[in-house]
Amino acid sequence: MSHKAADRLQDVQYFGEFGGVNPSISDSSTYTFMSAKTMSDTFEGNTEGCYLYSRHSTPSNLYLGEALAALESTETANVYASGMGAITSVILQLCDAGDHIVSSRTIYGGTYAFMKNFLKKFNIKTSFVDTTSLEAVEKAITANTKMIYCEAVSNPLLEVADIAALSKLAKKYKLPLIVDNTFSPLAITPGTLGADVVIHSLTKFINGTSDCVAGVVCGTTDFCTSLKDVNSGAAMLLGSTLDSLRAASILKNMRTLHIRMKKHAENALYLAQKFQEDGLTVSYPGLASHPGHKTMNKQMNSAYGYGGLLTLNVGTLEKANSLMELMQHKNLGYLAVSLGFYKTLFSAPGSSTSSEIPMEEQKEMGLGEGLIRFSIGLDDDITRTYKIMKACMEELNILTSENVIA
Ligand SMILES: *Cc1c(COP(=O)(O)O)cnc(C)c1O
Repeated sequence: MSHKAADRLQDVQYFGEFGGVNPSISDSSTYTFMSAKTMSDTFEGNTEGCYLYSRHSTPSNLYLGEALAALESTETANVYASGMGAITSVILQLCDAGDHIVSSRTIYGGTYAFMKNFLKKFNIKTSFVDTTSLEAVEKAITANTKMIYCEAVSNPLLEVADIAALSKLAKKYKLPLIVDNTFSPLAITPGTLGADVVIHSLTKFINGTSDCVAGVVCGTTDFCTSLKDVNSGAAMLLGSTLDSLRAASILKNMRTLHIRMKKHAENALYLAQKFQEDGLTVSYPGLASHPGHKTMNKQMNSAYGYGGLLTLNVGTLEKANSLMELMQHKNLGYLAVSLGFYKTLFSAPGSSTSSEIPMEEQKEMGLGEGLIRFSIGLDDDITRTYKIMKACMEELNILTSENVIA
């Protein structure tokens, strides 16, 4: 059974310049005007459908944006050169010097570092709270708060945000709710649950081939237009523009997103269940033991499963490192950061992608040093993969040690 998000995506259809089934790729940085008047109107933002300069927009970027807006059920979408390019543009568009942000404490390391360190330049402060507690979120809101920020399924701890509840709270205080949906495309549609702006790092599942970085902001036409305003748009002025060639290749990869998400989730659920049976400390939103399981069930598009990410805590960083090296040696996947690849990727977030977060805070949020984050691949026979993984764990005495809950 499909879901509305996938149906909308299915119905997006392009006709190329010469009738090609793929739209032509725009290969220009600048565009001609047949009359000087149209050029000045375009600078004032008054001419729909006119291109000006490729940092503002390009036909290829608009095509990709159209597909992403369909995916997230928003009016429109702007694509960017990276997920961070999207995130930083949104934040700097919505916040002025001296403002305040309420953010989830379990977020992508780069986003955390941007809020905590970089925004000091503008005296913008962030309260990092446990966003699964509405009370904690409400308590953190001040007169200067300009947004509530969270990830639908968080990195790396896989906390699940109750988006409808957070949206209700945000509306009470007239604040926009910004949701990074990188971990759960198709599975969760934050826009239909009340999120005002939905962000993705396209680098991950949506592109799916680990060959580029890119990002997107999905939102209202007003907001997306403001981001590319020639006088005051954060994205236009900071310039994290996606190249048209890349936009075209991402659009083509997106066409298999629904098939890939189902397979990633099917494989991840199988492994999570097996690891749990083995007595290992595994975290996966598809397990009844996961704290976000009920929230996930309430808001997910069930056809796409519980996502491709799971974490395993093997006790110590030393063991985690040995296991990852051995798994890579057995060609089970790569000891690499990032996610959404066809091969399984694994890393120890405490010492890599979340290393921006101080050790103390890592501990407080449950980010143990023996934690391995897995982005499960598209393996055709996951039962075979499991057998090889289990053999690796046996070889390293991970299954017979204190890691196993009796
Ligand atoms: C990777 C990632 C980002 C950053 O995206 P880039 O494309 O690397 O800039 C932001 N949020 C989440 C949840 C991510 O996983």
